[in-house]
Amino acid sequence: MKRELKKEKIKCQCGKWTEPKEFNIDGFKMRGSECSSCGETYLNPEDANQALIYNKIKHEVLTGKIAKSGNSIVVRLPKRLVEALNLTAGETVTISFENPKTVKLICS
Ligand SMILES: [Zn+2]
Repeated sequence: MKRELKKEKIKCQCGKWTEPKEFNIDGFKMRGSECSSCGETYLNPEDANQALIYNKIKHEVLTGKIAKSGNSIVVRLPKRLVEALNLTAGETVTISFENPKTVKLICS
């Protein structure tokens, strides 16, 4: 599983070994590890990069495009959004209806 917490330990700058830990930063679950000796934390670079992309776009208004694919209507999402949310083709998202102009995508 891509979101599984890695069981690797990292040698901390203080010389001790860190313990794997999942962090919740701004609603992002990030893999990483923490040193129980000095409290230093290390984030998984992939997850940290994803959070960076998210932070860049979170206040932007992005546009998508409605397209036809076979008998279905699809919404094309901007690449940056897909990267920030770590979405992959074929993944299922939950869609909730907010009001006649707004739907919410809930990604797992
Ligand atoms: Zn340490």
